[in-house]
Amino acid sequence: MEKREELYSGKAKSVYSTDNPDYMIMFFRNDTSAFDGKKVEQLERKGMVNNKFNAFIMSKLEEAGIPTHFEKLISDQECVVKKLDMMPIECVVRNYAAGSICRRLGVEEGLELNPPTFEFFLKNDELGDPMVNEHHIESFGWAEKAHIEKAKELTFKVNAVLKQMFDDAGLLLVDHKLEFGLFKGEVVLGDEFSPDGCRLWDKETREKLDKDRFRQGLGGVVEGYEEVGRRLGINFD
Ligand code: 5GP
Repeated sequence: MEKREELYSGKAKSVYSTDNPDYMIMFFRNDTSAFDGKKVEQLERKGMVNNKFNAFIMSKLEEAGIPTHFEKLISDQECVVKKLDMMPIECVVRNYAAGSICRRLGVEEGLELNPPTFEFFLKNDELGDPMVNEHHIESFGWAEKAHIEKAKELTFKVNAVLKQMFDDAGLLLVDHKLEFGLFKGEVVLGDEFSPDGCRLWDKETREKLDKDRFRQGLGGVVEGYEEVGRRLGINFD
């Protein structure tokens, strides 16, 4: 597959077209950003770690019957993905309270949410990714009702699969964010799954091993991601 021009560049990844219009190449950069791009740093090895982490998780999800855009790894920092027509929506599921829900609802970090709770956010940096509901999504035409319902159903399915997988590795999947798009009419998981877009705590000590290490200036960011990968059996060499 031939890599052609850059289609777009996000905060941590760049996407390139290929000689096949149905496929793209996703390049994981070492850039790390938080607070809607206000804090940005380069972290050595992060692109490679997230690329391999994402490949491992997407393959597990495919095995569990969840359609994803992931095709194959082609280098340390690149993989081939299907070209989706993305919905501009983030699907967040939370098993424990952390981050924005604590600020919004005044609940304590670490509170177990049973059943897990769910939120939609609009992808819009200028507005700070505001929380929206199904009615907003439908009324403003951001996505069709059937597609957003499917995305929500798949998000809960992903949560069930990954919560168990991380639990077996001695980790709590606190929350995570997913993005979906359409491929030939089917709702498919896109973007990435890495410690950049989820919260993972050690089950015993509740040590944070995700992007909160960067957001909160705790240091050892990539080391935290690699520790999670090591427990899952991912080979980063
Ligand atoms: P919160 O709403 O607490 O900020 O985020 C909930 C979860 O979704 C966290 O795991 C967080 O990492 C993830 N998340 C929310 N918005 C974004 C985003 O714009 N980019 C990334 N990478 N993750 C996000």
